[in-house]
Amino acid sequence: MNLQLTDVTLRDGLQMEKQVLGVEQKLQLLQRLKACGFSRIEITSFVNPKRVPQFADSEAFCQAVFAQAQDVPLMAFVPNEKGMERLLAFPIPWAACFVSVSEAFNSKNVNATVDESLAQVQAVVKSARQAGRKVRVYISTVFGCPYQGAIQPETLKRVFQTVAESKPDEIALGDTIGVATPNQVREVLAVLAKYFPVAQTALHLHNTYGLAVSAARAGYDAGVRLFDGATGGIGGCPYAKGASGNVASEDLAYAFWRDKLTPSFAAKQFQQALEDLSSAGMNPQGRLSEVWKKGGQWYGI
Ligand SMILES: [Zn+2]
Repeated sequence: MNLQLTDVTLRDGLQMEKQVLGVEQKLQLLQRLKACGFSRIEITSFVNPKRVPQFADSEAFCQAVFAQAQDVPLMAFVPNEKGMERLLAFPIPWAACFVSVSEAFNSKNVNATVDESLAQVQAVVKSARQAGRKVRVYISTVFGCPYQGAIQPETLKRVFQTVAESKPDEIALGDTIGVATPNQVREVLAVLAKYFPVAQTALHLHNTYGLAVSAARAGYDAGVRLFDGATGGIGGCPYAKGASGNVASEDLAYAFWRDKLTPSFAAKQFQQALEDLSSAGMNPQGRLSEVWKKGGQWYGI
């Protein structure tokens, strides 16, 4: 399988931003992201709008998006079956749901125990499959939790096994606070591989300590071909102070292209998307955008 990059700017990126974008701004950003050549784009979240005002207009946005045929596969986040019902009103090919391997994180984030979330995940995966949609399960804090620290191998195994048994199309390993190291990626993948194919596993890394690109590369060498990023590295984690956003999509795309793992790098299109994010009041903070802000070049040696 070729390497595939999923951009999560419009969901994971925006949910942490104070700036609330309107439907028109989101549509424009989606156009820009599509031009960057992503394999998939996560466009919104069907959470309770009272919890995340960024997604109060999910229905209006999806109506506008699907007024035209979409050539890039799109994905939306659903926290539970109610969210799944809302998703099914639109021809969104991919649904994504969530469980954390940490009791403390899961409780703060979605006010549920890990077992309660696992039950939700099983229900969402089932409804997605019945409706003929593909489904991804995010398993977050697998590399460490801001409250509990290290995750016990027994806990990882139990959650991996339960999620794998529900037969999702994809599992995304989430590094919510950006602590994953290359070696840790190899170790966690080896545990997951006992229950679920690495080829259907995505790495969803954050870049708090600057380790995300090298951790992604370790994942690639272990057989992972699916990676997430947010353009400009925007976003963060509301429950982990100082945690930075997702690894910047353009930083990942650049690294993979420079290593000849992908055929091209859409420098101009990424710059346009970053410009849009800046003019919408956000602060792109990937490595390439820092270089570009200072007037430097993105060398393609
Ligand atoms: Zn994220």
